[in-house]
Amino acid sequence: MNCPYCGHYDSKVIDSRDVNEGIRRRRQCLGCNSRFTTYERLQPAALFVVKKDERREGFSRDKLLTGIRKACEKRPLPAGAIDKLADDIETELYQKGKAEIPSAVIGDMVMEGLKGLDHVAYIRFASVYREFTDITALKQEVDTLVSAEAEVSQPTSQLPLLPDDKLEQLTNGHRAKRVKARVKR
Ligand SMILES: [Zn+2]
Repeated sequence: MNCPYCGHYDSKVIDSRDVNEGIRRRRQCLGCNSRFTTYERLQPAALFVVKKDERREGFSRDKLLTGIRKACEKRPLPAGAIDKLADDIETELYQKGKAEIPSAVIGDMVMEGLKGLDHVAYIRFASVYREFTDITALKQEVDTLVSAEAEVSQPTSQLPLLPDDKLEQLTNGHRAKRVKARVKR
């Protein structure tokens, strides 16, 4: 849960103990160092994911996390953003209070989350999940993103594909190398 004082998403557990039907945890916010208490109840019932071929398997947060991580590989995302997305989706799934959830619903939730986080990760996930069979469908999705971005000015949470300072670094680095090479000769 987010810090009740500053809203920061990450905290560390400094003490935990079993209480009647769950676990009481004393936490410290990693943003403002405030301490607060959470009570975690044991998950009441198992949640099953219904796959495309109607097979069912138990919901796995690890699987969800792996899928998101793969899409976000080497993307410059803020620390904890991926875990936060997985946590939010897991919470939302359990809050639905259903015993079974179609895998497509989870896929859509991941897509929605990635869309607000990183467009490259979003396209990567979409290309696997939506199984784009031809480049036209993929291009359509990219075009939709680009035109949506042009309408709304770039959200602050969205990182540019190549930040200006990085671009500068790259060009400077290139120049520096050339100078060095000349000096050696
Ligand atoms: Zn805080």
